[in-house]
Amino acid sequence: MADTHVNHLLIGGGLASANCARWLRESGAEGEILLVGREPEPPYNRPPCSKGYLQGHESRDETYFRPNDWWGEQRIELRTRTSVMKLDTAAREATLSSKEVVSYDSALIATGANVRRLNVEGAELDGIHYLRALGNADTIRADADGKQVVLIGGSYIGCEVAASLTAADHASCQIVMQEAVTLSRGFGETAGRWFQERLEEHGVVVHGEDELERFEGADGRVTHVVTKGGKRLEADCVVIGAGVTPDVTLPRGAGLALDDERGGVLCDARLRTSAPGVWAAGDVCSYESVPNGGRRIRVEHWDVAFNHGKTAALNMLGQEVEHDVVPYFFSDLADWASLEYVGPAAGWDREIVRGSLDEGRFSVWYLSGGRVEGALSVDRSDDLEHARRLIAGRTELGERAEALGDVGGDLAAL
Ligand SMILES: Cc1cc2nc3c(=O)[nH]c(=O)nc-3n(C[C@H](O)[C@H](O)[C@H](O)COP(=O)(O)OP(=O)(O)OC[C@H]3O[C@@H](n4cnc5c(N)ncnc54)[C@H](O)[C@@H]3O)c2cc1C
Repeated sequence: MADTHVNHLLIGGGLASANCARWLRESGAEGEILLVGREPEPPYNRPPCSKGYLQGHESRDETYFRPNDWWGEQRIELRTRTSVMKLDTAAREATLSSKEVVSYDSALIATGANVRRLNVEGAELDGIHYLRALGNADTIRADADGKQVVLIGGSYIGCEVAASLTAADHASCQIVMQEAVTLSRGFGETAGRWFQERLEEHGVVVHGEDELERFEGADGRVTHVVTKGGKRLEADCVVIGAGVTPDVTLPRGAGLALDDERGGVLCDARLRTSAPGVWAAGDVCSYESVPNGGRRIRVEHWDVAFNHGKTAALNMLGQEVEHDVVPYFFSDLADWASLEYVGPAAGWDREIVRGSLDEGRFSVWYLSGGRVEGALSVDRSDDLEHARRLIAGRTELGERAEALGDVGGDLAAL
């Protein structure tokens, strides 16, 4: 027997849940909304954790999804420091860490993702950090100050943290990564090299095609990073950015269908899970993306979690809408460079550059079989509108693809 009944139970205290709560109310939901989150904070934006907040330019309050009063004004009950421990989708009941049993009409699973930990020798030493939450950013900022920092991983977290700590004069930074060029796994070597050059011209040292072997320390604290390639780098602080894994503990226990290939909860184009009355959103959601030709994807980015929250809310209210937004990401290397991207391209056989890499104003178009699958912009945001249209339209460009590289040419004509 449940202790409480709510109309909408939102599981996870991140962006996807928060925006779902907002859209439930904005779309006319009258009933009880309960948002349950494990963290001590109200829902907040994670991007500042590796950017403005880490640099000390942005306050904690500025990272919050909404000011603290907003939740009460909206009659959304926010339960922080609380986990959903068990979900019984047949009975439509959830058991919280407070032991309270909550019954629901509709539920959202937005449990997000956890950092991937590297269990190498020395991993337990002090001074080795991961970054997912505001608290991690506080610790890194305090610990990195004036130190020699080594970043493990050459993707978003490694590059953004190296840029932020360098720009804020907190530390001198080196990156160790498996790939030859930073950010190249998602964006290819042309764009990746351009970003690496921005890092290097500000003094970040990049060690590509290498890998972490172990950490060495003294008196319980890290002193060196040893690489498989034989380097021994001085490091009195380390930040590991080795990716994340979706948090499926709760949905697995509830018997929901999972995506074994990509991780996450298996959903359809309306973000419905395999259980009636349960939707999923954000980093944990693997779904059939209509604008990507129905291809199944799982994306770990802010804008997708934000927009999923809205789509899930509309469906929880019975509107039966497909999630039709072309996935969009952004990333900043301090104030040195910003990228925006739409896609995501699963693979590509051709890259076309529009604009000038030398002038730092360009877009890179990723094509497969003559169709645009993704596009990256540095200071050419308008190009992405056209990219969205071409991706969603599955437009066969054939020889017309040449026009993408002609800055004088009209993208609207494609
Ligand atoms: C440092 C950092 C920088 C980033 N920068 C960018 C960027 O520049 N651009 C970009 O596009 N994206 C960026 N991202 C990614 C973006 O923030 C995520 O995609 C987004 O936060 C996903 O939101 P979510 O709600 O799905 O999950 P999360 O934000 O992970 O929230 C899920 C929440 O649910 C909680 N939870 C899990 N299980 C339970 C349970 N059983 N009961 C209760 N609570 C539970 C978790 O503790 C967590 O608080 C960044 C991420 C990080 C960490």
